[in-house]
Amino acid sequence: MNTSYAPLHLFIGGEWLTAGDRDTVPVINPADGEVLAQLPLATSGDLERALATAKTVAPLWRDTFPDQRAAILRRAAALIRERTLQIATVLTLEEGKPLAEAEDEVRRAGDYFEWFAEEARRIDGRVVPSNRPGVQQLVKRQAIGPVAAFTPWNFPAITPARKLSAALAAGCPVIIKPGEESPGTALALARALDDAGLPKGVLQVVFGVPDMVSAQLIASPVIRKVTFTGSLPIGRLLSARAAEGVKPVTLELGGHGPVLVFADADIDAAALGGVANRFRGTGQVCISSTRFLIQRQAYEAFAARFVEATRALKIGSGLDPASQVGPLSNPRQLAKMEALVADAVARGARVLTGGQRIPGPGYFFEPTVLADVPLDARVMQEEPFGPIAILRPFDTLKDGLEEANRLPYGLSAYAFTRDARTALDVGDGLEAGMIGINQYRIIATELPFGGMKESGHGSEGGREGIDYYLTHKFISQV
Ligand code: NAD
Repeated sequence: MNTSYAPLHLFIGGEWLTAGDRDTVPVINPADGEVLAQLPLATSGDLERALATAKTVAPLWRDTFPDQRAAILRRAAALIRERTLQIATVLTLEEGKPLAEAEDEVRRAGDYFEWFAEEARRIDGRVVPSNRPGVQQLVKRQAIGPVAAFTPWNFPAITPARKLSAALAAGCPVIIKPGEESPGTALALARALDDAGLPKGVLQVVFGVPDMVSAQLIASPVIRKVTFTGSLPIGRLLSARAAEGVKPVTLELGGHGPVLVFADADIDAAALGGVANRFRGTGQVCISSTRFLIQRQAYEAFAARFVEATRALKIGSGLDPASQVGPLSNPRQLAKMEALVADAVARGARVLTGGQRIPGPGYFFEPTVLADVPLDARVMQEEPFGPIAILRPFDTLKDGLEEANRLPYGLSAYAFTRDARTALDVGDGLEAGMIGINQYRIIATELPFGGMKESGHGSEGGREGIDYYLTHKFISQV
């Protein structure tokens, strides 16, 4: 038993519940296959209790003064920062990413709570002049009501933080179901909110059989808003369920990030930054740069630099300070990488480096670079969500944009050029919610995080983030 990994609970009705006679699933350390802990799974009765609690606390939390909501969120942000190393260690143990990346993620999770603490104080409305005598017209923004939130395993701190911080700031209670494969991190955030004085029941954390949990929560009339981050098929499913009850949904469903590298660009910056960005989180990052589209004159030089930097990456357990790339988070991911590489090679792609799983108990896969990948390869259609970089040449701006926009995804996109006109044209032409020009590190608390097309809709973060947990109503008074 790893002593840095705390026992796991459900957090329902303000109580930290242990497994008792509930079913459990093991949580596995992907670096060595060790069982870290058993995770209790909520029963249908547990979910009913969570829903009843959310219904009871909804008006109380909505009517808590903005300053009080803000103070609690600010205290939680401070506690998360104080506990950064402890929470990051849990994150690395259960998800696999290097500890330094986990610490960065936890700090940025804290930033969201601080940001939305301030936004809680700015939920104002409007007085609209009337066209009839003696009529006062007010437009108010109010908490939408209890939220059901579903988050995946790959960013177990920041994804729950984006949803919880905005929803709680808006005055909504939340029932969250984080990914069952990395549950300890979200529980640590919940612990910080509990310790910060969040009233009991305003935040509840459940785990379970995902399909059973989402079906029951979304069908309940108590839930007024659904938010999900994960894969496209599950996003579609939850969206359809929410439509039954006419509930608004925020969806973040991954991407297939194109990078347009023009011949006039700083090729070293594009290649070296590209390697760091592509293999961060072992490539299990929805905004990752995946398809490197390089103008033909610069193709060979870019590929040589990219491969050299990829080969230099140190792979190993996230707890080893020398590691730059950790394991994949689960065996499904390992099998998927093998299948994607085999398919691409069978269709004529060249493996410039990597391409194999690394033998041993953990789920390690070599950082892989595929060149000249044909458009009909699976990896050119599906989000690889792992340590595979794809290189392809293009000729003109028009060709590059056409390939960049070919897929139904529209989450992140990147471009490298020294030409201001080209930069403006790609900024306008790329179909993506988040675009980096001459840089990869683009996400910031103050910016709206979200996609277009089949990558989803709605924003999390920035000034926009709180809107998705508010509803408008007008009061017209004579
Ligand atoms: P998945 O779709 O089975 O699971 C993703 C998340 O959704 C998990 O946390 C899971 O618990 C939850 N989930 C699954 N079924 C659900 C249901 N019926 N109701 C509610 N929640 C449900 O995917 P996976 O096997 O974990 O990953 C497959 C692919 O999904 C990945 O390779 C990647 O392409 C994509 N993905 C994207 C993100 C992202 O950040 N957008 C995160 C995780 C996975």
